[in-house]
Amino acid sequence: MRTKLVVGNWKMNGSLAENEALLKALAPQVRELPGVAVAVCAPFPYLAQLRALLRDTEISWGAQNLNHNRNGAYTGEVAASMLVEFGCRFVIVGHSERRALYKEDDNVVAEKFIAAQSAGLTPILCVGETLEERQSEITEQVVARQLDAVISKAGIEAFAKAVVAYEPVWAIGTGQTATPQQAQDVHSFIRNRLKSHNLSLAEQLFILYGGSMKSGNAAQLLSLPDVDGGLVGGASLSAQEFAEICRGGVLSRISGAR
Ligand code: PEP
Repeated sequence: MRTKLVVGNWKMNGSLAENEALLKALAPQVRELPGVAVAVCAPFPYLAQLRALLRDTEISWGAQNLNHNRNGAYTGEVAASMLVEFGCRFVIVGHSERRALYKEDDNVVAEKFIAAQSAGLTPILCVGETLEERQSEITEQVVARQLDAVISKAGIEAFAKAVVAYEPVWAIGTGQTATPQQAQDVHSFIRNRLKSHNLSLAEQLFILYGGSMKSGNAAQLLSLPDVDGGLVGGASLSAQEFAEICRGGVLSRISGAR
């Protein structure tokens, strides 16, 4: 049985005071959760605070974006090596908000994925379809295109040290969570696509679900055979709610679908 991984994506939220209160409330609640690993991805300015507050806890941390260049004249950007200096383990790449609002295309996402790995970070590669794409019944084509762009540039072996997050865009921040069937279908599609390249690697791959995951639906989603964890936005801003989701990971393992 794979362990579960639950990652909070704070997006552009928080303050020094709020973060401290949140993390101090969260850490004891997620201590020694059997088979569940927990991480939070924060805005860049708070990474030093996360390092200070989390280094003696079981919670890992990461960033929400990076620039694919090593260094240079890229005003306002942040390189992978800088994230490593602040103890980051993860970095989110290709979140739909970055694809939509900052016009990051599949090619740039693949370059970010490679830059993250070259520095020793674990990229969390987000893929997922818009509502229009789902209604046009091209979900699988969209997800395949997003995956293939990274596979062809980074190589399938790169997925041995990566996480994939399936995040249907229509479910992000809307309260409209994918049904268990919808989530399982796409997760299984993702795993099978990777299996066609490398069977054992695909079986080990963590595929997270993201999109309005909450305490009330987490255990059910996390118990699906191909759902290995969650990428949690809004609900990760409440220690109570996020801890409850993490505990849902334990319950899902007890109910034991995989
Ligand atoms: C996200 O932004 O990755 C996300 C899943 O957001 P939410 O949980 O708020 O839908």
